[in-house]
Amino acid sequence: MKVYKFGGASVRSAEGIKNIAKIVSTVEDDLFVVVSAMGKTTNALEEVLAAFMKADKQAALEKLDEIEAYHFQIIKEVFAEEINGHLSVHSAFAELRNLIETGAGDDYDRWYDQIVSYGEVISTLIVSAYFTETKLCNKWLDMRKLLVTDSNYREANVNMLESERRLRQAINFDDCKIYIGQGFIGSNTQGRPTTLGREGSDYTAAVIGNLLDAESVTIWKDVPGVLNADPRIFQNTIHIPELTYLDAVELAFSGAQVIHPKTIKPLENKQIPLYVRPFNNPSESGSVIKAEISKPIDVPVLILKKNQVLFTIRPLDFSFVLEESLSWIFMVIEKYRLKVSLIQSSAVSISICVDNSRYLQRAIDELSTDYRVSYNEGLELLNIRGINPEIEGELITGKEIILQQKTRRIGRFVMRSSPKPIPEVD
Ligand code: ADP
Ligand code: ASP
Ligand code: MG
Repeated sequence: MKVYKFGGASVRSAEGIKNIAKIVSTVEDDLFVVVSAMGKTTNALEEVLAAFMKADKQAALEKLDEIEAYHFQIIKEVFAEEINGHLSVHSAFAELRNLIETGAGDDYDRWYDQIVSYGEVISTLIVSAYFTETKLCNKWLDMRKLLVTDSNYREANVNMLESERRLRQAINFDDCKIYIGQGFIGSNTQGRPTTLGREGSDYTAAVIGNLLDAESVTIWKDVPGVLNADPRIFQNTIHIPELTYLDAVELAFSGAQVIHPKTIKPLENKQIPLYVRPFNNPSESGSVIKAEISKPIDVPVLILKKNQVLFTIRPLDFSFVLEESLSWIFMVIEKYRLKVSLIQSSAVSISICVDNSRYLQRAIDELSTDYRVSYNEGLELLNIRGINPEIEGELITGKEIILQQKTRRIGRFVMRSSPKPIPEVD
């Protein structure tokens, strides 16, 4: 069997849904289809949640009305009139509305997963119903019952053994060769919804590929495949047809949005190839990530991580930053789930670059009880793999560099302003 994953961009409109049905209809193998929330629905549900947490139920419900209108506009364009009334999408919205009207509480992370997980539930209901209407026999799965996680809300860890047991029980491809399940969501052992971290649907696809021993996993994107830089930021990007698992891990960890960083491990562990293909040009082969490739990457790869914060920690009494203090600093970092992108240490200080996030200020406050902490916000981290003097000159000249690290192959620059467009590299 194969796993196909369709992200938010691929299902953001009626045409998008029709397009993915066309892609799926050409597949002869058994297929597990993982689908994300439509378009920017997750961001919109985050706004609903923000209003709900401020106890502004009216604002939350108004935002929810907009989300509902967006989905029903798509439904109207996709289905024949008489199907609309029967769709379980109505009950999903009713459940959400009821949660907002009757719920209260201050546990942001738990409420996040409860509310935001509906984005994927709703999108899969629509996609499944459309597949059925176009005679693509399929079964809809509720991943909140199948993907078991711990209770680390908003960044839950999958219990692979129990999830495999449940998935294998729920799935056999005897009656229909297509199953549809939500990316990004699962639930803990008490059945409370959890989510796997923003952009986590790629990761769901990889987990399912691993647990069901898929022949391959394909993530369908709005780009020709993996490129040597994000085309939304840099010009003249170059397509990379083949990458090793290690290349992909490095790229994803450094912040290349095209693949969620957790996606590679479950696939590498079972040597399952990962294809990144364009949903707008399904006949193109895209990129493949696998163990052995025929030609190493021979173009510079640029990754720009935005919204970074660099903080520097110094002992109050001019003592060294030694192992004991490092272990405490990292405990605080883990406790507040900071995502570290770069570390640099000296005798009496350590500088750590992290993604800006909800709990950063609390971490800084806790660190400040024992250390002097200074920090810089609004930074970007440019990572150049395959660095050479020309490309460095092109991208770095004139920039305010706050910190840099270089090896023979890689340059990393924490800086204040965006880099200039990439020059042509061939
Ligand atoms: P999804 O629809 O699955 O959520 P994403 O929007 O998360 O997809 O990922 C696709 C986007 O990743 C592209 O639109 C592109 O702007 C961005 N991207 C960042 N780095 C790269 C890269 N190296 N190669 C291709 N795309 C990239
Ligand atoms: N819908 C979720 C998000 O936007 C998960 C995903 O799309 O991968 O983060
Ligand atoms: Mg995405």
